[in-house]
Amino acid sequence: RKGNVVVTGASSGLGLATAKALAETGKWHVIMACRDLLKAERAAKSAGIAKENYTVMHLDLASLDSVRQFVDNFRRSERPLDVLVCNAAVYLPTAKEPTFTAEGFELSVGTNHLGHFLLSRLLLLDDLKKSDYPSKRLIIVGSITGNTNTLAGNVPPKANLGDLRGLAGGLNGLNSSSMIDGGEFDGAKAYKDSKVCNMLTMQEFHRRFQEETGITFASLYPGCIATTGLFREHIPLFRLLFPPFKSTSPRALSPNMKPEKGLLSDPSLTKSGVYWSWNKDSASFENQLSQEASDADKARKVWEISEKLVGLA
Ligand code: NDP
Repeated sequence: RKGNVVVTGASSGLGLATAKALAETGKWHVIMACRDLLKAERAAKSAGIAKENYTVMHLDLASLDSVRQFVDNFRRSERPLDVLVCNAAVYLPTAKEPTFTAEGFELSVGTNHLGHFLLSRLLLLDDLKKSDYPSKRLIIVGSITGNTNTLAGNVPPKANLGDLRGLAGGLNGLNSSSMIDGGEFDGAKAYKDSKVCNMLTMQEFHRRFQEETGITFASLYPGCIATTGLFREHIPLFRLLFPPFKSTSPRALSPNMKPEKGLLSDPSLTKSGVYWSWNKDSASFENQLSQEASDADKARKVWEISEKLVGLA
């Protein structure tokens, strides 16, 4: 049978490129999990994805109700789940004030981390686990910007989750800070913090569930692709200056996400708990994470607080 892969945020950028590449192999049915159904349908059509190879399903990661609804709808479709790609993200580097999800969490961490956390917890435990596919995978798209042991990760403001006091307080900007570390709102930092949470979550999943489920958990650096929608909120000057730096990777599809060779199905890349990067020959290699992004104690704490925030504990 065909593999079934859920890709969040498949209506543009890397998610769309990944959906298209997977669909074109003829070996995958792609469930495009998107907040804007019309946009997703149009994107799939204009990318030329054949109708029989994809389904668009509604998912707004900025609402936990929507996440639960998506899980219900997905189950009703009675498709097995073989691979889940947590790709969607918002990036609000120029925002002066925080904005919030339906439940009142700061939008970047609420969407990128908490929405995906609930989604993968619900789908993973009950659906992915049941799959009889030879290689079941949960891929969480990370970022070098959340990784302070790299040059790009050291551009201020740096990611820093501190003692998690803002997260523990619910990131609501009322009786708690909207930032995980309890500091002043900073949109660029909130995004980077959310990506550190993504990478910590992937490792905690690995520690808690790899042995029991046989699922491969991985995160990856997709490369710097300034042409995707992620930078839509960025200052025009940045968008103008940025392309020369990424001229070596003018594509929206990261080598890590290529079907056959990439993380989604390459039989040689089944090592779990790894953050992957890729070299100039497009070969994937295991990357070193920053101290904070590989801190097992912090990963456990982020997990436990997140469980409470999304109503799982
Ligand atoms: P895009 O902005 O093009 O894609 C982001 C996707 O996320 C869009 O489809 C968007 O939907 C979706 N999305 C945003 N909010 C929600 C929500 N509440 N519910 C559901 N979907 C939502 O960016 P990229 O393709 O560049 O980013 C993809 C991933 O790659 C992200 O995880 C990002 O952090 C990561 N990344 C990207 C880098 C780059 O250079 N581009 C570098 C490092 C990491 P809609 O189409 O409706 O807006």
